[in-house]
Amino acid sequence: MDESKLSPMMRQYLDSKKEYPDALLFYRIGDFYEMFFDDALTASRELDLVLTGKDCGLEERAPMCGVPYHAADSYVSKLVSKGYKVAIGEQVEDPKKAKGLVKREIIKVITPGTQTEETALEEGKNNFLLSIYLGEKKRGIVTVDITTGECYATAVDSSKECLDEISRFSPKEILINPSLKEEEELFSQINSRFSISLTEKEERFFSLTEADKLITAHFQSSIMGLGLSDQADLRRALGGCLSYLYDTQKNLLSHIRKIDFFQNKDYMIVDSYSQRNLELWETLREKKKRGTLLWVLDYTKTAMGSRMLRHFLERPLRDKKKIEARLDAVEEFTGHYIDMEELREYLDSIYDIERLLARISLSTANARDLLALKLSLQYLPDIKKALSPFQSSLLSKMGEEMDSLEDIYRKIEEEIVEEPPLSVKEGGLIKASFSKDVEDYRNAGVNGKEWLQELEARERDKTGIKNLKIKYNRIFGYCFEVSKAYQGEIPDYFIRRQTLAQGERYITTELEELQNRILGAEEKLKDLEYALFCTLREEIAEELPRIQKTARELAHLDAYLSLAKLAIKENYVRPRLSEGGSLFIKEGRHPVVEKLLEEEHFIPNDTSLEENQEIAIITGPNMAGKSTYMRQVALIVLLSAIGSFVPAKEAELPICDRIFTRVGASDDLAQGQSTFMVEMSEVANILRNATKQSLLILDEIGRGTSTFDGLSIAWAVVEYIARHIQAKTLFATHYHELTELEGKLNNVKNYCIAVSKKDGEISFLRKIIPGGADESYGIDVAKLAGVPEGVLSRAREISAFLSDNDFMQENKNIVAKEGGLETDDNLESQEKQTKNGAFEKGESKNGASGAKLLKSLNK
Ligand code: ADP
Repeated sequence: MDESKLSPMMRQYLDSKKEYPDALLFYRIGDFYEMFFDDALTASRELDLVLTGKDCGLEERAPMCGVPYHAADSYVSKLVSKGYKVAIGEQVEDPKKAKGLVKREIIKVITPGTQTEETALEEGKNNFLLSIYLGEKKRGIVTVDITTGECYATAVDSSKECLDEISRFSPKEILINPSLKEEEELFSQINSRFSISLTEKEERFFSLTEADKLITAHFQSSIMGLGLSDQADLRRALGGCLSYLYDTQKNLLSHIRKIDFFQNKDYMIVDSYSQRNLELWETLREKKKRGTLLWVLDYTKTAMGSRMLRHFLERPLRDKKKIEARLDAVEEFTGHYIDMEELREYLDSIYDIERLLARISLSTANARDLLALKLSLQYLPDIKKALSPFQSSLLSKMGEEMDSLEDIYRKIEEEIVEEPPLSVKEGGLIKASFSKDVEDYRNAGVNGKEWLQELEARERDKTGIKNLKIKYNRIFGYCFEVSKAYQGEIPDYFIRRQTLAQGERYITTELEELQNRILGAEEKLKDLEYALFCTLREEIAEELPRIQKTARELAHLDAYLSLAKLAIKENYVRPRLSEGGSLFIKEGRHPVVEKLLEEEHFIPNDTSLEENQEIAIITGPNMAGKSTYMRQVALIVLLSAIGSFVPAKEAELPICDRIFTRVGASDDLAQGQSTFMVEMSEVANILRNATKQSLLILDEIGRGTSTFDGLSIAWAVVEYIARHIQAKTLFATHYHELTELEGKLNNVKNYCIAVSKKDGEISFLRKIIPGGADESYGIDVAKLAGVPEGVLSRAREISAFLSDNDFMQENKNIVAKEGGLETDDNLESQEKQTKNGAFEKGESKNGASGAKLLKSLNK
């Protein structure tokens, strides 16, 4: 395009556009935001807007579309939620006063991770921007929610841990440096697995010197004071993040005040796969909250509490003292039901203070936001009082330390009217009692009406025009309106202003003077009210740290109350945290399945995994309830680590360092890679990283390959865990052969899920009992599922044939021989193989056996 031919406005537009080439530019012209060229094409397609054109100096008109300025927010949110960035080019001088072209500047860029528009945010969920800097050794990760002011930072060693953090925070947008793209697996996972908008910035954007400057200025502390001296990659990630936020928000973001620096070892690690698999906050298939653990847990009353509860779940604790402290708080509430309900009722009136504060700090809060803040603070003194009898460490401390912010409440109460309008520039926000000037100007407005009425009556008498009326019009101001019939009686001091279909409009000198007095007062009142409002907003912003602290306490309070309510409502018990690491659950239930079952009753089951008895092999037909049972154990362990009571009659639980879950191939949605390959890399990961303190949930390992290979792998995995890791393990399998490991390995025990069979019909008893399953019932389950009788009877025939020929026995002998069950020498070499990743290689012996089988069947 030949830019020299462009009209001045278009040149101005393109200059702005060049500042933010990756954003759609909303360009304010009069009462509209207009988009041009490619932006117009995109926006008209995405927002269903009519595409028009504008003369721009070039031969062809520039494609153009626009939205009215007052409705822009919803259009912007729509685009941002689709992953676009939107830059707002605003008129920064009064068009009436501008000489020549009105000056325009980009006042803000809205991106998925920096969105603050209330309607675009999810209440109980953070809106995170995550910044990753891939350095030579470490990966610095910083996560910020500008809608609440939270900022978390950590450094991790591997891409996998990076993914775990991403999956835990579920950010809306990720900021990366260019080298991250070279980590192919991580990059492709980010691209494919999450609906995240990716923003790449060049390496110099993450310069360490710049980063340190920004960090020290923002947090007003030295790098050493922040404890970040050894964390160069983290500082780069943080610096990049701050710089991106400043650049998009054009604001100092003073509500982001502290960095929550965390390390993985402080928390129980639930990797991204297990987070999804256990459906902690999102169901596997529909990605919904209903049907997840969080859905069951969430009895919170406030959005802040709901986010806090989710945060608990994202980071289960490993520090026994901290867990016990939360359990104490929850227990104390369950013992004081009335007080608990009273507190929950107070929380009902509390708005999302954290997000209100962010708006106050970003200067986007209106009078209704301040009113919402006031209402939220209203019961703080009562909450503080209601907390005073509580003795447990967390609650008593909260009661003592809570700042009930009465001064802030009073400030807003004195100044802001009870029902303020949305707009802060149109007046009507400030109480007359607060300011003498407001009162006077407002009186002028009120008296003005009387003055007008009086003038109207006087002129009516004087002229004899009976229906003479004073009307107001935005363009012409106040006028006398005279209908056609009276046109002959117009006195000569009436000056005509406007002709209407039904009559004429006039002004007089007196009316004009009156108008100046009234409208002048109105304008002055609006300006004054706006100024007073801004001062109040700034004053409150100065108290941000105090208010933020209280908001945080309320969020915690709400989360503890929610856990207590859950415990009472769903009949949970307080777990004992075991010293020696044993796991014992009496009549445990699956928290989610028991809620989803409507008609049927959930059948509780016991679990016992002790020292020297760590591994349970669980057999039983499909649909018997194996996965439910195993997940239930994992969820119970997890719940106790967040300080929650658990769905059981009694429980003694270990504090685990990690929970690993692995579910057989067909339950998993393949993601580009071969399902077996995915399964095996997960197994490799587990075997490499699990410790004695871990909990392993392995469901149908080996299902992704041929029976023979699958059995061999499953066998070897159990053996390896039993001898080398000794992690608490629940291992569900349909390979009955594995039950033979009980006895061979002394820490392995068999369990099965009871099934009864009467008159050829099976029914599931859902009860877990010691011992291996006697039959596989596969054909019975197929029958339940409605497989045609012809197929079933043929399957029975084949099954009978196979067991006569003892096909599996033959396979088992090979496993016993080649897997090297007995000697430690063999085990050593097997371990080496595992480390080399030889799992995938193992040449299939099934080929030979399969051929034999076919031959026999064809006979
Ligand atoms: P498997 O893993 O053995 O194939 P699942 O664990 O998927 O079986 O369980 C199948 C279904 O059985 C579940 O969807 C659930 O509705 C029901 N179920 C499982 N365990 C129980 C239980 N203890 N009490 C009642 N119903 C259960």
